[in-house]
Amino acid sequence: MFFSKSFIPILKNNPAEAKIKSHQLMLRTGMIKQSSAGIYSWLPLGFKVMKKIEQIVREEQDKIGAQEILMPTIQSAEIWKESGRYKDYGEEMLRIKDRQSRDMLYGPTNEELITDIFRTSIKSYKSLPQLLYHIQWKFRDELRPRFGIMRCREFYMKDAYSFDINDEEALFSYNKFFLAYLKTFKRLNLSAIPMAADTGPIGGNLSHEFIILADTGESKIYTDKRIFKVNSDNTKLEKESLNKLRDEFKKFYSVTDEKYDENEFNNKVPEEFRLKTKGIEVGHIFYFGDKYSMPMNSSVDHQGKKEFVKMGSYGVGVSRLVGAIIEAKYNDKKEIMKWPQSISPYDCAIIPLVTKGDKKNLEKSINLSKKLKEYNIDYLIDDSEESFSAKIKKFNLIGIPSQVVVGNKTEGDNFEFINIGKESINLNSNQIIEFINQSKKN
Ligand code: ATP
Ligand code: MG
Repeated sequence: MFFSKSFIPILKNNPAEAKIKSHQLMLRTGMIKQSSAGIYSWLPLGFKVMKKIEQIVREEQDKIGAQEILMPTIQSAEIWKESGRYKDYGEEMLRIKDRQSRDMLYGPTNEELITDIFRTSIKSYKSLPQLLYHIQWKFRDELRPRFGIMRCREFYMKDAYSFDINDEEALFSYNKFFLAYLKTFKRLNLSAIPMAADTGPIGGNLSHEFIILADTGESKIYTDKRIFKVNSDNTKLEKESLNKLRDEFKKFYSVTDEKYDENEFNNKVPEEFRLKTKGIEVGHIFYFGDKYSMPMNSSVDHQGKKEFVKMGSYGVGVSRLVGAIIEAKYNDKKEIMKWPQSISPYDCAIIPLVTKGDKKNLEKSINLSKKLKEYNIDYLIDDSEESFSAKIKKFNLIGIPSQVVVGNKTEGDNFEFINIGKESINLNSNQIIEFINQSKKN
């Protein structure tokens, strides 16, 4: 893609309405555009990043045996009346009437809908466990939408639901998602800590929030720093192995605001390991047993008896993650963003010095791009006639981690390669391809 033909509307300055760095950067680099309060369009640069995050989230759900479905965004109020939440949910729910005056709503979450799908389809305990997930738009009429796509009204979310025959099996399902989350965030190059959390309007008694440390986060957290060292690499998808992993995490006090108890914190965590800070909630998992299956009569036959299924739900804020990753990776003093290569909007930026009368560097860049294309590496070539320093500044904001700078000294198959934020090195085209493919895996 040539920069001149791309749809990347860069702003010269930080927009005044944006208070935190992710919101500033996303507007500044034209990743999103607000359409009304808390409702955004995703432009190519932002959408590419979100799609890549979505794909990583999807792959890790598939790996634990969850099956993907798609549900409607508009739901009937009837099922919410059955669970009792039509009254309880409050004003965050956008309620709509259709032309027949039927009560409808834009789904803020999907426990009722999935329970309805399950109860009409699965009859025997032999079909359990069932792990289902969907990735789609949800709407919550937040009182104070803010920080761009971090707390907005329409947002993109992965939500999964588990159905099991008893508490023990349900805990096994819960632990599978717990592991899937650790792996997902690792692939996104993030350290997200699982924190024991309150269950809120979803209800139930077991819950973890996954939180990324950031000063601008809205969640207060109290944690034992040793939790960062817990390693999940060799955990297998078996009960015992997963229980062990959970036990490792349980050793360290780590809670959100609602669960915080100062005495407990001081007693359980030696002073040198105490960390009180703020973070961004990027995922939230819950076990809630038969909270929905009982009122909605969702059961299976088990040895001649009717058993209400035991359920859990497991959310990841896919769109919020785009902002959260910027909060974690953007150095606003140096004005340098560095996307993890695995989710970078383009694999490589090619930045030639181009002047009106001299297109030689552009030609060298196009030659390199042909080679990259053969290896499925996608690139953005800046064919504009801006000064070199202006281009570098712009690309430091766009944040593609692999950059090739093409100047008058560039000759043959020898390029100046910059891994953003680091010293430049000389690489040939094969080495560039190798570097990019390698860092995509990490
Ligand atoms: P919060 O406490 O931030 O409002 P929540 O507990 O209401 O979150 P869940 O219902 O657990 O959130 O939703 C799962 C995930 O969806 C959250 O962890 C978060 O990443 C994301 N999410 C929730 N609300 C929003 C929102 N208004 N804008 C963007 N993402 C959101
Ligand atoms: Mg909320």
